[in-house]
Amino acid sequence: MLYAADVNVKQVKYNRDMMLILVLASGEGVTIGAHRLYAHKAFKARFLLRFALILLQTVAGQNCMYIWVRDHRLHHKYSDSDADPHNANRGFFFSHMGWLMSRKHPAVIAKGKTIDMSDLEADFIVMFQKFFYKPLYLLFALALPVLIPVALWNEEYWNSLLICYFSRYVVLLHITWLVNSAAHFYGTKPYDKTMLAVESSLVSFITVGEGWHNYHHAFPWDYRAAEYGTSFSFTTFMIDVLAYTGLAYDLKTTPDDMVVRRALRSGDGSHKFSLVEEPLEDEETNIVSEKVKSLIPSLTDLNNNEIKEEPKNIPGDDKLDKLIKNSAVTNGNLTGKVFRNANPKMEKDKDK
Ligand SMILES: [Zn+2]
Ligand SMILES: [Zn+2]
Repeated sequence: MLYAADVNVKQVKYNRDMMLILVLASGEGVTIGAHRLYAHKAFKARFLLRFALILLQTVAGQNCMYIWVRDHRLHHKYSDSDADPHNANRGFFFSHMGWLMSRKHPAVIAKGKTIDMSDLEADFIVMFQKFFYKPLYLLFALALPVLIPVALWNEEYWNSLLICYFSRYVVLLHITWLVNSAAHFYGTKPYDKTMLAVESSLVSFITVGEGWHNYHHAFPWDYRAAEYGTSFSFTTFMIDVLAYTGLAYDLKTTPDDMVVRRALRSGDGSHKFSLVEEPLEDEETNIVSEKVKSLIPSLTDLNNNEIKEEPKNIPGDDKLDKLIKNSAVTNGNLTGKVFRNANPKMEKDKDK
């Protein structure tokens, strides 16, 4: 009797560990593989890494890489409009999971055909997975996760099916869906207040780094998917490790000054280097407004995957660069004439 209880406790522990490993590993197949590598080309990966990521993404069971990436590129290009597959304007439930239960909006179908997928079509592993997705799904998402506990610690088939297939599948799906729902509803918009995507530390914590979503929509090519690298981002840490080994390379980031300028131009004031609201009449302020105005045409299309060149030779450009460096970014001086800390919480911290 004591022996049976002991075996049972061990089995529960093994099942729990197995489920956690499956959720985390297949989740990384989605975040590193489907999202940052394939959808956004935020870095490049050697064959071995691409193979491993596609394998893990298959375990996640969120459709084949090709369809996942097409839907996600559509989401970025037509964010929060009819052509966005999980348009957050249709409510929390729709953007979370309702979109998968509904017929696609005609705009999603029409615009979906216009998305450039040539890079994925040129990738042998992606097309192999697309062609054989059903048998691959049955093997890697269903059969192996269920059979491994049966073979290794004599788990019963039904238990294994419930824990290592259904439960972990449901858990990972809801974690992933939070990025499309909660990260488009509850949080701040330091970089672009015109979009629904928000910064959410809670979603970032749950999704190991995908909740800095206002930043991600503003700078989608950035492999960190956040301004501050690895904070709450196990995924960014993992890409850094993979880059260290040479399996990942050509990691794309965003220049600090470009981030600050975007925050000044279109943020909601919650970024730590936000512009003063009241118009100042000194020389520096005029330089800033000229610069900000001049950046607007080049930054309007930033939701696409491409980095747009900033316009060159703008009057006052050097002065603004110097100003940003001196009064804000480098020295962290938040009380300068042109910049001030618009975040009340940080204002309080500063007073301490
Ligand atoms: Zn994205
Ligand atoms: Zn989004």
